[in-house]
Amino acid sequence: MSTLKIWMNGTLVPEPEAKLPVNSAAVFYATNVFEGIRAYWSAADEELYCFRLAEHFARIRESMKMMRFTVPYTDADLYEAVRHILSGNDLREDIHMHLVAYVAGVGLDATEPTGLYINPRRRPRVKDNEGLKCCVSSWVRTSDNAIPIRLKSGSNYQNGRLATLQAKADGYDGPIFLNGQGHVAEGSGATFFMVRKGQVVTPPLTADILESITRSTLIEDLVPRALGQKVVEREIDRTEIYVAEEAFFCGSGYEITPITSIDRFPLGDGKVGPLTRRLSEAYLNLVRGVDKTHPEWRTAVYQGARVMAGATR
Ligand code: PMP
Repeated sequence: MSTLKIWMNGTLVPEPEAKLPVNSAAVFYATNVFEGIRAYWSAADEELYCFRLAEHFARIRESMKMMRFTVPYTDADLYEAVRHILSGNDLREDIHMHLVAYVAGVGLDATEPTGLYINPRRRPRVKDNEGLKCCVSSWVRTSDNAIPIRLKSGSNYQNGRLATLQAKADGYDGPIFLNGQGHVAEGSGATFFMVRKGQVVTPPLTADILESITRSTLIEDLVPRALGQKVVEREIDRTEIYVAEEAFFCGSGYEITPITSIDRFPLGDGKVGPLTRRLSEAYLNLVRGVDKTHPEWRTAVYQGARVMAGATR
């Protein structure tokens, strides 16, 4: 498979030429903010559709603000950059990408100059019939007053890396974090949901979690429409997840990924749960546009419109 070009500060470059200086804050402290975005190929339309691109742009702007970054791009510029990198690589397939704003300056207090790159990646999805075997991590989710997870910086992902490597060393597929208050937070790179006594439940936004776009999609639209119920947003205790009927992670990268056991307790009958399965199908139909509702959530980026609908500046 061909290697993909990177969009870096306005030009497409072959991956080996997309370099950052070793002394930059970007390399040394991982001083960056980023988004993980998926685009889905529609053979019928000969078009790639990015899912909820405007929301990803809005979130990276919030991360940039918290990090005191200056990046001289409007949303329309960012849209053009995404279109440029996807059509420039002639991508006629589903693709995941990282949109990364970074500090090229040196030192802990550097905020400028800032740059931007977009890095398309062929990222496989978890197989539909397999669930993850997870553990509750002994690592604690970092708190909003120390290393806020709402701020999507690469440096914050060391917390997830420690927990993921420990989980794998102990024979699990991945961790579930508790926060400093001892309540369930999220996965290393995904939002946590459970089904308990028939209700779909997820932790609140104040539980030291990322403000996930997929989480909003499920709350605002998919769970009510596909399952005929409202998502309950509330604190979740550790023992609740051991006796949940079903659980899953969600995220732009994870889509809907079932969890079938936690700390070796099988959830339900230990197989992918029926509500999780229905939601996963509904999610894939929505992002692919098989389900035609919310056209504003699918932005054409291959042939594309010249100007992105609904973009904020
Ligand atoms: N939590 C974390 C820590 C993540 O990295 C991600 C992936 N971006 C998510 C949750 C899910 O967020 P989203 O639905 O916006 O992709």
